[in-house]
Amino acid sequence: MTGQDKVNLFSLDRPGLEAFFVARGEKAFRARQVMKWIYHQGVLAFEEMTDLSKRQRAWLAEQCRLGLPEVVSRQDSRDGTIKWVVRVGNGNCVETVLIPDRGRNTLCVSSQVGCALDCSFCSTGKQGFNGNLDAADIVGQVWLADQVLRARGETVTNVVLMGMGEPLLNFDNVLVATNLMMDDLAFGISKRRVTVSTAGVVPGIYRLAEVTDVSLAVSLHAPNDALRDELVPINRRYPIAELLQACRHYLSGLGERRSLTIEYTLLRGVNDSLTHARELAQLLRDVRCKINLIPFNPFPSSGYQRPDEASVRTFQTYLMNAGYATMLRTTRGDDINAACGQLVGQVEDRTRRRERYIARLRSQEVA
Ligand code: SAH
Repeated sequence: MTGQDKVNLFSLDRPGLEAFFVARGEKAFRARQVMKWIYHQGVLAFEEMTDLSKRQRAWLAEQCRLGLPEVVSRQDSRDGTIKWVVRVGNGNCVETVLIPDRGRNTLCVSSQVGCALDCSFCSTGKQGFNGNLDAADIVGQVWLADQVLRARGETVTNVVLMGMGEPLLNFDNVLVATNLMMDDLAFGISKRRVTVSTAGVVPGIYRLAEVTDVSLAVSLHAPNDALRDELVPINRRYPIAELLQACRHYLSGLGERRSLTIEYTLLRGVNDSLTHARELAQLLRDVRCKINLIPFNPFPSSGYQRPDEASVRTFQTYLMNAGYATMLRTTRGDDINAACGQLVGQVEDRTRRRERYIARLRSQEVA
């Protein structure tokens, strides 16, 4: 077997890996042994997995591989944030951001190349959708960052699927990847510290509730449908009432002490007034949640502006007084374009590619 024909073991969570071994006449517990080597010891060479027999190691090397995304570049921000650009299986590049903060190491991972949802204030959406990451590409981002941290005696403590892409539109691969993040034989991160973030893919939220209890964040950004239709176009398909109903359903499976995260990007003069804050507080009154406010991070020709600090504080204070735990997400890594909404990878916008193609055809006609 050569190269790409081999099974990439980073694509399999524990049940997947057990089934893989059993289907080949091996014992299911081989999965545990191999996972410990990969995720705890950081060993990628099958011949070094010495609690397997020589025959098993040879067989694994023949049929399997441990393929990771290729690191194309790494940038270190002056605030400690690290951004990697990695090339994934389909040849495109995505970004991964590590945010160290008071003993926590939060990794922001991408789940798709680009994004199809086109939220009006997000630069990822501007580049169009260029494909799903496979599970190994998602898990690989965590493995790579974890290795860097382990070299300095630390580990990834939190993962947020808040990089490029809409995780719930790459459901199966995201599920395998989050299973591995939470599995003690892999990264062993608590389910409270692994967060899937969605722009509001309602059927995906119901599906998620059936198969996992990972933490959920919802990008709301507006307290009413008229405004949300404009900012988050998927709202036209799944309006706020349906979205919040799905959220309550998801929460009912989590247990009393866990809550949802509501993300709200503050855009100057668009959704940042006290009236919006009041409307938001009213809207969320029967949803167990905390609110994360993200002052808009500008990018070229976005057409939006960040509100000034005073109005951000006023918005936050109103929500806190209304009884909501309300965090202000401080901008990290903006000197390396690593802040929310600034991730663009290195793919070319499809529409631009198409325009160029048409222009080329035209010039050929003329010639
Ligand atoms: N598609 C998922 C995952 C992306 S998470 C989702 O929408 O939840 C990234 C978060 O940053 C989302 O809440 C997104 O709306 C927000 N965001 C996007 N662009 C931003 C920008 N320029 N400034 C601040 N926040 C932004």
